[in-house]
Amino acid sequence: MTQAFDDETLRFYRSNAAAYAERKPAGATLARFLGELPAGAKILELGCGAGHHAEAMLAAGFDVDATDGSPEMAAEASRRLGRPARPMLFHQLDVIGAYDGIWAYACLLHVPRDELGSVLRRIHRALKPGGLFYASFKAGEAEGRDRLARYYNYPSEDWLRARYAEAGPWDALTVERSEGKGFDQELASFLHLSARKPVTAPR
Ligand code: SAM
Repeated sequence: MTQAFDDETLRFYRSNAAAYAERKPAGATLARFLGELPAGAKILELGCGAGHHAEAMLAAGFDVDATDGSPEMAAEASRRLGRPARPMLFHQLDVIGAYDGIWAYACLLHVPRDELGSVLRRIHRALKPGGLFYASFKAGEAEGRDRLARYYNYPSEDWLRARYAEAGPWDALTVERSEGKGFDQELASFLHLSARKPVTAPR
């Protein structure tokens, strides 16, 4: 059995939280996600990093539960938000039907391949019926590490679609692509997935 998270990757974020906080993530997909939620919706942010996206969600009037697996990163986010962001690893998500939306920007890409299905099932379960889920990944064909030693699952679109299908029924699963640079400054191809839990889905 693989471990539910990658130690070396988390160590990287625990030691580089302050440097990471100075870097604003891209946000083009956030406005669309928020536009598809009802006003004041309850949003869980996974892997919130230094809290830039949570800050924008709060400013837009949403009820945000910001979380990150690195306590140091959650502390950076808490400072930015002026309210607590919770330390939580993805596989510790254990609530049922609690959120209108779940936002996971450039973070589930660090989940070991064998564990991603289980994390997606937890996300499906945590959404309310009709809830919206967004996640982005760095595209590829096989797992590996970047030059900063961070683990990436580097999925193809087909591989990801199969993991989503195993995790539960989804309505309107859409996949879009973009190019961009991450913290390592290497040009990468990103996959952006949006999906809705059906209103009639079993929990
Ligand atoms: N979403 C933020 C952004 O766009 O700026 C941060 C993205 S950063 C590339 C990935 C984040 O995922 C880091 O803050 C890291 O601590 C968090 N992370 C990595 N593995 C995690 C895990 N197993 N559980 C929870 N968070 C994790």
